Amino acid sequence: MSDVILLAHGSGGLLSQELVETIFLPHLGHPDGPLEDAAEIALAPGRVVMTTDGYVVRPLTFPGGDIGTLAVCGTVNDLAMRGARPLYLTAGFILEEGFPLAELDRLVASMARAAADAGVRVVAGDTKVVERGAADGLFITTAGVGVVPEGVRISAAGARPGDVVLLSGSVGDHGLAILAQREGLGFGPAEPGPSPLQSDCAPLHGLVAAMLAAGGASIHALRDPTRGGLATALNELAHASDVTMTIDEAAVPIHDAVRAACDLLGLDPLYAANEGKLIAIAAPEAAEATLAAMRAHPLGAEAAAIGRVHAGREVGRVVVRTPLGTHRLLDALTGEQLPRIC
Ligand code: MG
Repeated sequence: MSDVILLAHGSGGLLSQELVETIFLPHLGHPDGPLEDAAEIALAPGRVVMTTDGYVVRPLTFPGGDIGTLAVCGTVNDLAMRGARPLYLTAGFILEEGFPLAELDRLVASMARAAADAGVRVVAGDTKVVERGAADGLFITTAGVGVVPEGVRISAAGARPGDVVLLSGSVGDHGLAILAQREGLGFGPAEPGPSPLQSDCAPLHGLVAAMLAAGGASIHALRDPTRGGLATALNELAHASDVTMTIDEAAVPIHDAVRAACDLLGLDPLYAANEGKLIAIAAPEAAEATLAAMRAHPLGAEAAAIGRVHAGREVGRVVVRTPLGTHRLLDALTGEQLPRIC
């Protein structure tokens, strides 16, 4: 057997079968029946939500994660942002001819670990091979299915005037970890050791479940601030709900290494990507209990109340009060701060 991907691995013939049997099934397969053309899934009663996302991150492995963990967490988190319990994933792999099989094996194993951690099953998959130069190593697309528990109604359009804006932790970690790794920037410590810039890539459904247990129907909206960062996600929520928001910049947690890297590169951490953080919009009477539940969860230890929702629209959707006491408009990201961040 070759130790790199060949075009014939995508032929649907013997080599395709070998790839499935030696890499995909051992990590992601389930020994409970023959391989069918479509998977049968059982769903608990409730509203079913479904999402899909393509992953093209470069490099494929970065401090704090890799494309495998990202392809699971990103999709699980989109389900969680509707209040759903994530249940099933599908995965499509676009492989470039010449991609090392050992690296594929490592990334699929990582994906399997992330799926097990998130409590989801990968129930269907597909592999295609494109010729050298037609892709960059490996692209993954995942789709996810989840069920929203009875009584949970979470929508981007749910923010109401008076609501409190909660943030589950520090921003910019994923974006700056990718940037530093890709550009070979020396933000690492003087002594050898792990980079202080680590992606926050993590599945958020457990944090959401803890928040729902504390805040219930008083949690009106959730969003994970991925591409475009906190600033863009806040603008999306404000637009969808037709409200405005004021954010207290000093209340937004930002790790020192991220702040230092942003200062050096002239980047605004409020626009840098995250893969393990969420924004929650909660009714004022439930904000404190929800925040306490977030802080009691390992993925929300640095959670903070960062702002308020208001009616009307005078100057813009989202206004930030800077640490100096001045105000600035926080627009959605225009253009691309960093391509192929996820
Ligand atoms: Mg999202």
